[in-house]
Amino acid sequence: MEYDMSRLQIVKYPGAVLRKKAVTVDRVTPELQNFMADMAEIMYESRGVGLAAPQVGISLRIIVVDTDDRLQTIINPKITRAEGSQTGVEGCLSLPGLHGDVTCAASVTVRGLNRFGKKITLSGEGLWARAIQHEIDHLDGHLFIDRVDASTLRWVTGETDENDNQIERPTTLPDALAVFERMAKIEKDETLV
Ligand code: ZN
Repeated sequence: MEYDMSRLQIVKYPGAVLRKKAVTVDRVTPELQNFMADMAEIMYESRGVGLAAPQVGISLRIIVVDTDDRLQTIINPKITRAEGSQTGVEGCLSLPGLHGDVTCAASVTVRGLNRFGKKITLSGEGLWARAIQHEIDHLDGHLFIDRVDASTLRWVTGETDENDNQIERPTTLPDALAVFERMAKIEKDETLV
């Protein structure tokens, strides 16, 4: 694989790679290990709890997750058990600022390879299980907006009001997507200048 770390950046909606089914990794090379380390770095820089390779433009089945100060890199992850149900707020580094409630399994087991190519099986619940499902969805071209309860969609500005509450602005799915499409068009026009 070839990529330039200095050019690696988060692909935002509606980037086409986000809708592609990612390819299975058949060999863990030193180059791939470097890439996975770079993925983790970008996730931490972006203050995310998970990142999938397609989100940096590389359509391979690799995810990184860190929900409890423990970095996990999983190659070719596959959910082998999913139980219960949880509903909670999700966002996505590829759809910055947009939050909404998503229902997913409460607890999952995932199998795959670690960054050294060794077989691993991991189980967990809560936020970790949510992150795993969200990131594996990315590998199949699914985004949280496909699963979100649209009536809960809102923009989170990062700003707070006089009572220190986060300012959130409700939105609809078509309006939110139109904002991202407009931003992508502006960025594209700027790179053409
Ligand atoms: Zn995401």
